[in-house]
Amino acid sequence: MPLRFNSCPYCNQRIVFKIEMEDIDSSMYPAPVYIIHADDSCGKLSTFYVDSRLQVSYKELEKKSGAIKTIETQK
Ligand SMILES: [Zn+2]
Repeated sequence: MPLRFNSCPYCNQRIVFKIEMEDIDSSMYPAPVYIIHADDSCGKLSTFYVDSRLQVSYKELEKKSGAIKTIETQK
């Protein structure tokens, strides 16, 4: 299960999440997925866009349309 290391666009803390191919709509790349920063100090949802290798291309603060899954970060 691919682990991704990135940062939360709200609080800039380091985050880790797991993502699989079935978490995204592979008919379009980069594909959006919702990421919830599961930390008591944040808890915000943002939209991350991944390429066909599930690498993060970019991220948006807002909840953009098109994602099929919401993933919580690892504690
Ligand atoms: Zn955060």
